[in-house]
Amino acid sequence: MSSILIYCRSCGKQVPSSEAKDRRCLDCQVRDAMAALRAEHARLWRKRERYRGSGANADSIGRQLGRIENRMAERIRGLVSNDEKAAEYLRTELEEARQARYRIGGIR
Ligand SMILES: [Zn+2]
Repeated sequence: MSSILIYCRSCGKQVPSSEAKDRRCLDCQVRDAMAALRAEHARLWRKRERYRGSGANADSIGRQLGRIENRMAERIRGLVSNDEKAAEYLRTELEEARQARYRIGGIR
């Protein structure tokens, strides 16, 4: 595998060409693949908090959240061939998704 360094055309970071696709680094590929799922995750998370806040049963929303998180894991595994790296990406994504509600609350 070639170890030439190229510049990612999205973020400008220098990355080994073996990691890049379409001249874009893995970080950018994962971020784009996660955008829609993350938005859906944030929507459900807020919905669940509303339900809980009003004393309603939020179990079904919890299950939907679980499915979204599984899909995030699948997408990441599809992009990242290295298992350790895939797990690291997923951990970061889930942490950010679960914290996002504090930053973007009220926007959508
Ligand atoms: Zn990039």
